[in-house]
Amino acid sequence: MPLRLYIATTSQGKLRDFRTAAETHAVSIDPLPDLADIEPPEEDGDTFAENATLKAVYYSQFLPNQLVLADDSGLEVDALSGAPGVRSARFAADAGLVDSPDANDNTDVWNNIVLLQRLDAVPPPRRTARYHCVLVAARNGKPTNSTDGTVEGMVLNAPRGTGGFGYDPLFYLPQLDRTMAEIDLQTKLSISHRGRALAALLAQLHV
Ligand code: IMP
Repeated sequence: MPLRLYIATTSQGKLRDFRTAAETHAVSIDPLPDLADIEPPEEDGDTFAENATLKAVYYSQFLPNQLVLADDSGLEVDALSGAPGVRSARFAADAGLVDSPDANDNTDVWNNIVLLQRLDAVPPPRRTARYHCVLVAARNGKPTNSTDGTVEGMVLNAPRGTGGFGYDPLFYLPQLDRTMAEIDLQTKLSISHRGRALAALLAQLHV
């Protein structure tokens, strides 16, 4: 019997990432049932860990006795003192350019425009950044496991590639000479913050 995990996300991109990263493990990953009907909690933490924990704890109460995962992730740009960080999904909204993040609108495009604007005067050697993901498992309202993963890169001054989502077309991986939007999903997950956080969690769960 594979271990069953439920992930509290409405993001198809994240669900696909987690499922692909877990393909070679004896584990099934499904979205939390009826997630769309559950009022989401306020993600008001100052860190990825706080937000991932509050989400995992909250959502696990809707599926008794099951392990429920939640993650929080984003881009930390050194020249911006770690911004957008926990505000990555809302970078353009915070700048007043879009109403609120919505998977069906152009939030990613606007977020990338804001990022390019903020880094306009920053030369390439100083455009270092990382993706960071914290993944928390909880059962019956209590956290059971927490892991994190990072991947280092540079922010380009123009997008490259059509794959991925979010900031991927601007996130350049020097070791591959590609952006995150120019590599296939398997390669992305073998090096990405989310893939690494999930691999660490599955190791903790012995699967
Ligand atoms: P979350 O849904 O609160 O974790 O917000 C994550 C945000 O960080 C996304 O909306 C993206 O803007 C950014 N992000 C996180 N992971 C990735 C990734 O793998 N590729 C591109 N952008 C990402």
